Amino acid sequence: MTAAILNGTKIADEIKREVAVEIEALARRGVQPGLAVVLVGEDAASSAYVNMKAKTCEQLGIASCKLTIPSAVTTEDLLWEIRKLNDDDDIDGILVQLPLPKHVSKHAILEGVDPQKDVDGFHSHNLGSLLLGHETLVACTPLGVMELLYRSGVEIAGAHAVVLGRSDDVGKPQAALLMHANATVTICHSKTRDLPQVARQADILVAAIGKTAMVTRDFVKPGAVVIDVGTNKVADRAEVQRLFGNDEARGRDFEKRGYIWAGDVDERSVKEIASMLTPVPGGVGPMTIAMLMKNTIKAARRRRGL
Ligand code: NAP
Repeated sequence: MTAAILNGTKIADEIKREVAVEIEALARRGVQPGLAVVLVGEDAASSAYVNMKAKTCEQLGIASCKLTIPSAVTTEDLLWEIRKLNDDDDIDGILVQLPLPKHVSKHAILEGVDPQKDVDGFHSHNLGSLLLGHETLVACTPLGVMELLYRSGVEIAGAHAVVLGRSDDVGKPQAALLMHANATVTICHSKTRDLPQVARQADILVAAIGKTAMVTRDFVKPGAVVIDVGTNKVADRAEVQRLFGNDEARGRDFEKRGYIWAGDVDERSVKEIASMLTPVPGGVGPMTIAMLMKNTIKAARRRRGL
């Protein structure tokens, strides 16, 4: 079997077109949604993500503002900036780009965002509401995975879904969403015994562990749908060669940038056994940005009771 490759870029474009229509409808009512993105420090990858988000806002007609804050900022000072955004009526969504410097309390900052403007869905109020099955703002990446599954015609109800990873931003909300969609869900983590054997029970396998190509064909039941959330930087030429052989596109990327992005799934072995597989890049990544746009519109509507 050769897996169908799920084109996240194409599906994300479809969602962005739908969002653009909603934005036009809001504009007719005099509303322009606004998103504030907070970047702390000068991490190149974080800066690239933030610019990508701002560019997408611009394309769709969402007002965006970027706050760049020096990495020496204290938790208290950063909270003060967040509170200003909470009080700014032109801002519907606030996103704090992670990771934060180690001396800043991630918990305090994420809890400092007004839950109504928490377009990342990381506030305990929103995570709690998700668990209870209430309508709320949900983390963009797991939401994007669900949208990919729905729009690719994957039957979720009754399926056994195995989620590899239990982080607050991906694994936990992912498991909750799959459960609410009536899958039977198993959550795995670094202490799970015989991970390949547990993963092999999955009809839908979601890998979100941050370990390059760890999920090999031994983890996959024939015909399973495999979603690769992992985004790992590979900067070693020999490693790129080992993972992707003579893949020309990746070779070109590596020559151009000195690194490539690879997922948690070993694409070469898994695509021979899965029925569907998301690529990295071009799978879950673009869906995350599309869902951020969707969440911003949702926050704008909810705040205004529209
Ligand atoms: P994280 O906070 O580091 O969590 C990783 C999870 O994987 C933890 O629950 C950890 O278990 C588990 N894990 C680590 N090593 C394992 C192993 N050997 N066996 C089994 N489980 C293991 O990471 P995250 O934020 O969830 O992100 C996961 C990956 O997704 C990363 O590559 C990240 O870059 C990527 N990501 C991509 C997007 C996107 O838009 N495409 C968005 C978010 C994240 P413990 O809990 O036991 O430590």
